[in-house]
Order: sequence, then C-alpha cells, then structure tokens
Amino acid sequence: MKYSRATVGRMQLDDYVRIVPQIYGKHDRHRSIWDVWCHTLHHGAAVAERIRKEAPADKLFAEIGDLALWLFTAVQKLSGKPGKRKSPAESSIETLVRIQSTCSDLVWHRYPGVCHLCYARRTASKVPGAKLLGPCDCFEQESDRRGKAAKRADLKALHRFSKSVRSRKPSSIDEWQAMFGAIFEKNIERLSPTEIGFHLLEELGEVSDAMARMYSYVESNFRLGEPNWRQARLEDQIADALSWLFALVRKLNAMKFSNRELKHRDQAERTAQVTLSEIIWRRYGSDDLGAFRCPSCNSQVCSCPLVFVPGTHSVNDLLQRFTPRGIF
Ligand SMILES: [Zn+2]
Ligand SMILES: [Zn+2]
Repeated sequence: MKYSRATVGRMQLDDYVRIVPQIYGKHDRHRSIWDVWCHTLHHGAAVAERIRKEAPADKLFAEIGDLALWLFTAVQKLSGKPGKRKSPAESSIETLVRIQSTCSDLVWHRYPGVCHLCYARRTASKVPGAKLLGPCDCFEQESDRRGKAAKRADLKALHRFSKSVRSRKPSSIDEWQAMFGAIFEKNIERLSPTEIGFHLLEELGEVSDAMARMYSYVESNFRLGEPNWRQARLEDQIADALSWLFALVRKLNAMKFSNRELKHRDQAERTAQVTLSEIIWRRYGSDDLGAFRCPSCNSQVCSCPLVFVPGTHSVNDLLQRFTPRGIF
C-alpha cells in the first residue's frame, strides 16, 4: 500500500497505531512499555519547551510528530489481553498494563462528539438534545467535584451513549481533527498555546498514573471488577491526551508562521489548516518512497545502529564501558 501527503489524512487512528510504529518495530521489541512511555513523556515535555521558547514552526512540528509516533507506539504496546505475554522480553507487570479498546474506539467512548464532562453535566441538568452536543463550556462552570461513584455512573452513561451514536464516529484522523476542533472551539480560542501545552502535559501525567494503577492497589479496593474500572480509566486518559494533542495542533493555526516556515507547503496548502496528519507525514512520511520511514536512515524499517541492553548487548558489555576512574 502506497501512502502520500494526500492520503494520510484519510487513515483511521487505528491505522496509525498499526502502521507508523512499524518503522521502529525491530528496535521496539527490545523496549519495555516503560521505555516507550519515557520517550512519549520526553517528547511531550519537548513540545512544551518549544512552545515556551517560541521555537520556529518546523522545530515545534517535529516534536509534535515525535510525540504522536511514541503515543501511537505506546497504544500499540498497551493493546492486548491482561496476563498474556506478547513478546518474550515482556515482564509480568507489563502484561497487566493493558487496554482492550482500539485507539479510535477508546477516543470515541470518551468523546462521542461531545466533551465527557459537558455530557455528564448537561444530562444531569436535562439540557435539551440540540444543546447536549454543543462545544465544551467547562471553563464557564465550577470545577468538577464528583466523587468516584458518581464519576463511574457517568462513565457508564457516556459509554452507552457512545455506543448508541457509533455510526457518527469519525473515520479518519482528519475527521478526528475536525471533531476536536469543534468540541474545543471555545477553549482553543481563549487558551494560549502555552496553556494548551500545559494541559497536554497534565493529561500525559494522568496516563502515567493510570498505568501504575493497573498493578498497584490498596487491600480495600483490590476486589472483583476494580481492574476493569482501572483499565477503562487508562483508556480514558489516553483519549484525553490525544484530544489535547489535536487541540494543540488546531491552536497552531492561530499562530503566525512565516512563509519560509511553511515552504514545504504549496500555494494552495499555505492557507489550509495545519493538521496532525500533515505534521506526522512531514516528519515520518516520504512522498518519494510512498511510505512512512525513519527520517535518520530513510528506511521504512529503521536500520539505525541502535544498541539496547540487554536486547542487543549484554549487561556486562555495558558495565565494561564505565571507566573505573570516573570522569571528574
Ligand atoms: Zn466540557
Ligand atoms: Zn533509522
């Protein structure tokens, strides 16, 4: 299958989870989920840094592309049956940090055309159907004070609703982009890129917390059904992180980029919206190859000479490279 700048916007999120991580699949089998997640956080933090330093667009876009690649790689690594090892290198703890929904489903369960908090609040106050799905106005409300039981009841109701309107689920990454642009329209308008970057980091931190809670409990909640709720929370946090990644990309459109920064775009594209699909393609796509590829070695399956201990070299190999005298 050939890919191009023109077609990648029509790919579903699940295609991204399946295809984009293949570039580094050979290396990734040596990486634990913790390794993959450290890289995801590193690039999330680098996105924030580039916003803070008002870095040129191409530098910011590259980090957003990297963050997306690692996030999709993490989703791929997290997918599977709890307790079932997907590769010999996986530890028993890793087999417990699992999600069961596909990427597009977990996002739809959390955002079925509406912000999950708005949905809970609007259904509780019996807002009429037409207004139920309006843009998020959480910022005009008091902060969320629901307890765990209320949150879980709302989650069930939201899940039921998302199933009932499943036929409306966006079928491509660009449709998701448009959906989040509409849901977060008012937030994107009033928040600065820095504030949106902060929110994205907040959500990535919550994914970290949800991952750790897949295998750590207290005796009182270590009971039947609790792992299912924890798994649902992990999926929701991933959806939140993706939603703010889309929101950030949408916000980029309000930022002023020079023509030099947009030189990769042709005349017609210069006025078009910046999308996550374009950013990922710009970083990892090649129109010459018609494929996603590693930007360093230009191969569809990365052949950069990476070293992983203990995957490709032994622990001893590494220990021998510490100079006994130290460096200071
Ligand atoms: Zn809302
Ligand atoms: Zn490479």
